[in-house]
Amino acid sequence: MATVIPYYRRWLRRFPNWSSLAKAPRRVVLRHWEGLGYYRRARFLHELARSVVRRFNRQLPSSPETLRSLPGIGDYTAGAIASIAFHVRAPAFDGNVARVMGRLLARHGHAPGWTQLRKAAGQWVPQKDPGTHNQALMELGALVCLPKKPLCPSCPFSRVCPSRKKLPSTSRQKPTPSKERESILVIRQGRTLRLTHEHPHSRWRGLWLLPTLAQAGIAKKTLFQISYPYTRYQITADVIPAPSTGKMIPGRWFNLDQAKRLPLPAPHRKILRLLGIG
Ligand code: SF4
Repeated sequence: MATVIPYYRRWLRRFPNWSSLAKAPRRVVLRHWEGLGYYRRARFLHELARSVVRRFNRQLPSSPETLRSLPGIGDYTAGAIASIAFHVRAPAFDGNVARVMGRLLARHGHAPGWTQLRKAAGQWVPQKDPGTHNQALMELGALVCLPKKPLCPSCPFSRVCPSRKKLPSTSRQKPTPSKERESILVIRQGRTLRLTHEHPHSRWRGLWLLPTLAQAGIAKKTLFQISYPYTRYQITADVIPAPSTGKMIPGRWFNLDQAKRLPLPAPHRKILRLLGIG
C-alpha cells in the first residue's frame, strides 16, 4: 500500500471530483492511473464518474443496491462505500474479512463455508458506526490475523478465539499463479518507437504497448528479461530488439518524447526506463 500512496495522491490532485474525471479523455485517465495497477479499475472509475454526473447530479448514491448497479461496483465495494462514506448498515465482505470470521467462528477445527460467512458478516454489522466496524475487520485481517502466521498475542480476540492455537481448515485455497512466457519487441526507427494497442491475449485495452508475442525464445539476441505478475499469471518476458522493416505490427510510430507521455502499463514503462528512453 505504501508504494501506491504517492500515485494515489497524484491521482486525487488531477481528479479532485466526479466532474473533472468525467470530462477527461480516456487517454489522460489511463496515463494518470499509472502505478496504481489493474487498469480495468481506471476504466470502470471513468465510466462510474460519467454515470454519477449524468444520472445522479454529481452525487454518488448511498444505497448498496443502487451502488451495485454502477460500473465496476460489486458487493464488497458497494458495502464499503455505503458503510464508510454514508454510515449505512452494510457489510464489506472480502477475503480478509472471511478469514478473520472463519477463524472466530470455527468449530472442531473447521471454518464455516463462504455462504455462511457472508450471511454472518451481514448480521455482525452494528447500526452504530458500521464503517468503523468494517474497517476494523479489514485491518485486523490485513495486519494481525495474517493468512499463514496470525499474530494472536496482539489480537483483541485472543481470549475468545477458538483458532488462536491451531488454525482451522478452510474450503478455499489460494490458487498458485500460472507461469507464462512472452516476447516484447523493441522496434525503433531513429528516434521513433513503434507502439500498438494489440495484445495476443487482449490485455490492457486502451493502453499503448510495446508489440508483444505470446511465445518466448524467438530470437537469438535478448536485451534482458523482466518478470511481472498479471492477475493470476506470473509472466517472464524476453525483451528483444526487432527490425523496423519487414512484417509490420499494427500501431503507430511515436517519437521518444511522445512515448514518455502516453498511458503504458507499468511493465512496459519499466522496459523503456531500463532502455534509457522512459
Ligand atoms: S486470535 Fe489469532 S486466529 Fe483468532 S482472530 Fe485473532 S489473530 Fe486471528
